[in-house]
Amino acid sequence: MCGRSPSFSSSPLTAKVRIVVFCTPATGTPSHTARNIDMSETRRVLASYQVSAQEDPWRKPHLFQHLNLHRCPHCAVASPLLSRIWEGVTVDYTGQNGKFWVSYVCSTCGGIITAWSLRDGGEVLDMYPSTKLVDESIPDNAADYLQQALDSLHAPAGAIMLTASAVDSMLKEKNYTKGDLKTRINQAAQDHLITNEMAEWAHEVRLDANAQRHADQAVTRPTTEDAQRSIELEA
Ligand SMILES: [Zn+2]
Repeated sequence: MCGRSPSFSSSPLTAKVRIVVFCTPATGTPSHTARNIDMSETRRVLASYQVSAQEDPWRKPHLFQHLNLHRCPHCAVASPLLSRIWEGVTVDYTGQNGKFWVSYVCSTCGGIITAWSLRDGGEVLDMYPSTKLVDESIPDNAADYLQQALDSLHAPAGAIMLTASAVDSMLKEKNYTKGDLKTRINQAAQDHLITNEMAEWAHEVRLDANAQRHADQAVTRPTTEDAQRSIELEA
């Protein structure tokens, strides 16, 4: 007689599945048969469990074979395919505080994300780079444009235009509402609301956005790095 007893570890979100195979020795069932059942059954249960875990959009990322993030922190593509490429364990100088590290590669941009937890399959406690979110101190409208810019880094021309809209919105928030963006940036600098360097950068974003908006033939298409640079300066 043979039977299997699947048991999950304490947290329902981890993919650790233990399957115990027990055979009554009297039946003479060869041990390799028992092992085969164990392996295929483990794979089947694990596969179905991982699918159900991925279907839950609210679950926190765990150190599974794939890292489940809403967006890639490098290129911001939605639902990125982030595959495990490296793993390792570290301890501090006393040999304590072990951390389990896993690196994942984004299939869209090739960027690497490194995350750690207390154990393999555990909940991610921190990762590098982390998902980019707009600072809470930025006013709502501007923050909205900026978050959209961050979320569309994979479409750099659009991201740059959204960054310019964020600059525009921030100036309006400070009651600089008259004239075109160029005039308002200059006025804000004159009033010492922004420094000269900030004004210089704001003009750069404005001109870049203009070039993209008017599909200027002489201008090369911006890259994700170009868009990232203009947003980073702002954030
Ligand atoms: Zn990516």
